[in-house]
Amino acid sequence: ATMPPLLSAIATAGRHGVLVKSAVVMERLGQVDTVALDKTGTLTEGTPRVTAVRPLGGSGLTGDDLLTLAAAAEHPSEHPLARAVVDAARARRLHLPAAEEFTSAPGVGVTATVGGRTIAVGAPGRPSDGTDDPAWAHAAYLAGELEDAGHTAVVVRRDGAPVGVLGLADRPRPEAAATVAALAALTGRTPILLTGDNSRAAARLAAETGIAADDVHAGLLPEDKVRAVRRLAADGRTVLLVGDGVNDAPALAAAHSGIAMGRVGSDLALETADAVVVRDELTAVPAVLALSRAAHRLVV
Ligand code: ADP
Ligand code: MG
Repeated sequence: ATMPPLLSAIATAGRHGVLVKSAVVMERLGQVDTVALDKTGTLTEGTPRVTAVRPLGGSGLTGDDLLTLAAAAEHPSEHPLARAVVDAARARRLHLPAAEEFTSAPGVGVTATVGGRTIAVGAPGRPSDGTDDPAWAHAAYLAGELEDAGHTAVVVRRDGAPVGVLGLADRPRPEAAATVAALAALTGRTPILLTGDNSRAAARLAAETGIAADDVHAGLLPEDKVRAVRRLAADGRTVLLVGDGVNDAPALAAAHSGIAMGRVGSDLALETADAVVVRDELTAVPAVLALSRAAHRLVV
């Protein structure tokens, strides 16, 4: 017997490096008319590097001290930024003290007890952070400088007070711009960028990959990504979300279809998604959409 078109499409998708979890998923992917892409780990390689280590003057910390504290707190995290911080500390051969009581907030950052003190590493300038304090003003200034250069800035806090800022940068995947163009050609709409990172780093990546400035949504918490997907659906769009992180899992579940990036992806994202890019090539996403459309033409 010949294989039914949807199963045959799943087999072909597998050869393109995409694991499609069911025939229903394969069929639904062909209905997608709007693609929303996550930034870090999806449009970028997901292996950022530390570009700047800036202890605050009043903290009494050296650059190595700051990196040691941040890396100790980040050590239990699977986030790409956390891995970059730990790698930078290892490259400097810093000894990392043990972290206790680790917690992470997707889209925000991590907190842990290191040497009896509470160390937090995360996005600068969230509303709950006090701002009239000069240390905060200084940290915000340093973070702004790094963000103006298109980098990601994270603030390191000790017992609530900022003690320094780290800069990080990630490269766009080499195939990112071609993928954006292929998705635009397939769906008739340029993809949308949804990211928890700052608006300047997001705008730079959008410009580099051919995403329109109006289609960039930055500074999003996981629930904001869900809201963005729901708003598109309310406008009659059939949305595919492509993401990699724990922070993307709720939006992967909310979207009509969800695809996770396998190499960099968190376990939660891989479980929640309808399909997984197992070979680390973003071009697999337009390829699988095209396969689904072709299979659909054979089914009807
Ligand atoms: P994206 O949507 O681009 O994949 P995330 O939602 O994972 O980004 O992260 C958004 C922002 O939250 C980061 O740019 C960073 O400021 C902060 N953040 C998240 N996780 C961490 C972490 N482990 N360490 C430091 N900062 C973090
Ligand atoms: Mg991500």
